[in-house]
Amino acid sequence: MDDVMNLKGKSALVTGAAGGIGASIVQRLRNAGARVAVADRAVDAIEAEAYLPGDLLVPEYADQLPGAAASALGGLDIVINNAGVITRGSVTDTTDADWSLSLGVNVEAPFRICRAAIPIMADAGGGAIVNTASCWGLRPGPNHAVYCMTKAAIASLTQCMGMDHAHQGIRINAVCPNEVNTPMLRSGFEKRGFDPDTAVAELGRTVPLGRIAEPDDIADVIMFLVSDASRYVCGTLVEVNGGKPVS
Ligand code: NAD
Repeated sequence: MDDVMNLKGKSALVTGAAGGIGASIVQRLRNAGARVAVADRAVDAIEAEAYLPGDLLVPEYADQLPGAAASALGGLDIVINNAGVITRGSVTDTTDADWSLSLGVNVEAPFRICRAAIPIMADAGGGAIVNTASCWGLRPGPNHAVYCMTKAAIASLTQCMGMDHAHQGIRINAVCPNEVNTPMLRSGFEKRGFDPDTAVAELGRTVPLGRIAEPDDIADVIMFLVSDASRYVCGTLVEVNGGKPVS
């Protein structure tokens, strides 16, 4: 098992690398021997082999990221489209700005990055892409209409790309977490006037495994999906929910 999880000699691009789940992914990839290019709005605090800061809402930035990572690292074997934003509310609560932000970061940027990464990987004989969807992309929850829709979109795109590019040796899969203890979740509690620690503990009691996920719980599944241990897994949506399905 050690050998199939070994990523020595592999090059990886991670978006949202400064975030809760992103930081854990970067650390695990590097621990497994991969060289990592990190992308986020601010990347100074991260240890990595290449730094590609920028705003994923800028189409030209997203378009050139895979090429820039390949140039900086000498190749591109792994792409993790992990960056994401959450906007809350029903459709009638949703502003034009919420719509553009959600579609831009959660759907358009990974589309652009995959579109640019696939030919690079195909030329090199293959690779692995993991997109971060959500349980809410599989079964929507209340009062997050546009967020759920964007996660359903990236889930569907993952399934389509998984089928379309398998013949090029590229495996494209998605993880679908339920609640994860990251700044995204905690800032939502703060905005609604709840103490994040108390809210996370209370939420944990609703999960059959007794706690919500920590970033490492998600990053380990992503590590499986980029490694040879998942060599026959392609176009799948892997739900990581502690036994708590979205109702
Ligand atoms: P996070 O807020 O800690 O990290 C998200 C990262 O994305 C941040 O570092 C942020 O700077 C980056 N990002 C956002 N907009 C960007 C932009 N325009 N340009 C460049 N970078 C940008 O959140 P997280 O919980 O670690 O989320 C990671 C992924 O997991 C997201 O796709 C999220 O939707 C998904 N997810 C999270 C949860 C959860 O409960 N936390 C549940 C399901 C899915």
